[in-house]
Amino acid sequence: MEEAPHGAGAANARRSARIPGFHRMSMAERRAALAAFAGLGDDDVARLAETGALPADLTERMIENAVGAMPVPIGIATNLRIDGIDRLVPMATEESSVVAAVCNAARLNYDDGGFTTSATQSLMIAQIQLVGVSDPLGARLAILENRARIAEICNACDPVLVRHGGGFTDLDVRIIESRSGPMVISHIIIDTRDAMGANAVNTMAETLAPHIAGWTGGRVYLRILSNLADRRLARARAVWRAQALGGPDVVAGIVQASHFAEADPYRAATHNKGVMNGVGACVLATGNDTRAIEAGAHAYAARNGRYASLARFEENAAGDLVGTLEMPLAVGLVGGATRVHPVARLCVAILGVESAREMARIFCAIGLAQSFAALKALATDGIQKGHMGLHAQNLAMMAGAVGAEIDAVAGALVASGSVRMDRAEAELARLRGKGA
Ligand code: NAD
Repeated sequence: MEEAPHGAGAANARRSARIPGFHRMSMAERRAALAAFAGLGDDDVARLAETGALPADLTERMIENAVGAMPVPIGIATNLRIDGIDRLVPMATEESSVVAAVCNAARLNYDDGGFTTSATQSLMIAQIQLVGVSDPLGARLAILENRARIAEICNACDPVLVRHGGGFTDLDVRIIESRSGPMVISHIIIDTRDAMGANAVNTMAETLAPHIAGWTGGRVYLRILSNLADRRLARARAVWRAQALGGPDVVAGIVQASHFAEADPYRAATHNKGVMNGVGACVLATGNDTRAIEAGAHAYAARNGRYASLARFEENAAGDLVGTLEMPLAVGLVGGATRVHPVARLCVAILGVESAREMARIFCAIGLAQSFAALKALATDGIQKGHMGLHAQNLAMMAGAVGAEIDAVAGALVASGSVRMDRAEAELARLRGKGA
C-alpha cells in the first residue's frame, strides 16, 4: 500500500507546485513563494538568504530557480607529501571523520616519502550515435576515412583550446549491437588540457554529427561526452611500513580487506565509497563536477565486466603495505564553476597547482589515503571507535544541546561507551536539571 502523505507533505498536497514565472522572480520573491508553499518562517527564509561566500548575484547565475546556498564545511588535509612536495589539501564534505582519516593516513607515511603519483594526458571521449544504416561496416570505414576532416571540424570549434595545446587527438569507431539493431558509435578523443572539457567536447560532437550523417546516410541521435574517461587516468602509490602500522597483523588485515573488495561487489561498493569520500570532497572544494567523477569512477571499477575495487593493497617483499589507486579523474582548473565560485578559486590557490593533471594526481593520492585509513580502521578497531567522538557531537546537537552543552553531552556519551540518541537526550536533560 502507498504511504499516505503526512506532516508537511499533507499540507503541501493541498498547494500547487505549478508556479508560472518562478524562474523570472527575484531570489527574494522566490523565497517568499517557497515560504508560502512550505510554511517556512522568517528565520528559515533569512537562513536561506545567507549565501555566505557565494554572492547572491552569482548564486542566481549558477543555477536556475536559486533560492539560497548550501554551506558545506571545508577542512584541510595536512601531513601530505606528494611527489616530494608538501601539500595542504582543502576538502569540502558534510561527513565527519573524512578529513581526519586523510591526515592520519598521510602522517603514517610522511617520513617514508608519502605518495607518488602520475597521470595520463587529459583526453576526453565524446560519442556520436549513428543508427539506421544498413551497412554498419561500410559506415564505420566511411567515418574513419574522414579523420583529417573530423580533426579540422573539431579544432575549428575551440580555437582557445587549440591555442592551449589541446584539441582533436584521435578517432575510434565502434559497432555495437543493441535491442534496436546495430549502432555505429564514433568516439572523438580530445585533449582538453586544463578544462574538464564536457562543454568543449559536446560542442564538437554536435557540430560533427550532421557530417557523419551525410557521409553515411544514417541518422544521428546522441552527441555527448562519455563520463567513462578511461583515457584520463590518475594514479597514486604509497608504501606504509608495517612498523608504522602496528605490525604485520595490521598489514595482513588490510591486504585481506583489499582482496575481499576485489572479489565481492557488495564490499567493493563500500570500499569505493571510501575512496570517493576523499576524492569527492576535493572535487567539490574546487568547484568541479562531483557526479561526473563519481560516474567515471564506478564505470571504471566495472570495466572488466564485474564491479570491483579501485584502490588495491598488497604486501611487498619487506613486509610493508603497498597501496595503489588508478581511476579516471576528469577535473579542470578552468570552465564550469571552477573559476566562477570564489571559494573554489581559493581552494585551487591553496593547492598551488599549475595544471589540471597535477590537481588530478593530488586528488588520487587523497583517494588512496582515505581508502587506506578506512581499511586500517576496519581491519583493526572497526570504524565506529574513530567515528564516535564526532558522531557523539552530532547526536548531542540533534538532542538539542547548544554551546558548551554539546561537548559536555558528547563527552559523557563517549565515556559511557554508549553513543546513542536516547542517551544524548537523557544526558542533556540531566545536565539542564543540574543547572536549574
Ligand atoms: P567550459 O566550456 O566552461 O570551459 C572550457 C573552455 O575553456 C575550453 O573549451 C577552452 O575554450 C577554454 N580554455 C581556456 N583556457 C584553457 C586551458 N588552459 N585549457 C583548456 N581549455 C581552456 O567548461 P568545460 O570544461 O568544457 O565543461 C565543464 C562543465 O560542463 C562542468 O560545469 C560540467 O558540470 C558540465 N557538464 C558536464 C557533463 C557531463 O559530465 N556529462 C555534461 C554537460 C556539461
